[in-house]
Amino acid sequence: MNIRTSEHQNAVIRVGFGYDIHKLVKGRPLFLGGIKIPYSKGLLAHSDGDVLLHSICDSLLGAAGLGDIGQHFPNTAQKYKNISSLVLLEKIFVLLKNSGYKIINIDTMLVAKEPKISPYIEKMKKEISKVIGTKNISIKATTNEEIGDIGKGKAICSYSICLIEKNV
Ligand code: ZN
Repeated sequence: MNIRTSEHQNAVIRVGFGYDIHKLVKGRPLFLGGIKIPYSKGLLAHSDGDVLLHSICDSLLGAAGLGDIGQHFPNTAQKYKNISSLVLLEKIFVLLKNSGYKIINIDTMLVAKEPKISPYIEKMKKEISKVIGTKNISIKATTNEEIGDIGKGKAICSYSICLIEKNV
């Protein structure tokens, strides 16, 4: 989409969507939105399993037409084992910046039976904005009403959507 904005003569605006899911297992720390949350289980993944950040990463890559998170950080690469997903998000932010894009806003939806997410949302937003330089981040959460594996607490998933722009 090519639009004329008040700030810029011409800007390309692009939307991106991202989704991720990981299983909850015993013996792993729980990382969501770049912070460690006290809980009896954690998300099973090659990295720290931060579904929220992974869905954000995929939405940003999608908006910029730069592929997906699995292409950039293969789960077979030893160097990404248990890596903080904030590091992955930062690498993707740099990729976008180098392609001339600026993030307008990000909206997310975390779906988790437990733990209760709302006490951590402000801290998550702060950690994410430190990396991507915008405070226009929305984090929402819902429980899935005990429906399906997520509703029964076997997994956590996250959906993200973002808008990015580039001056042309
Ligand atoms: Zn993931």
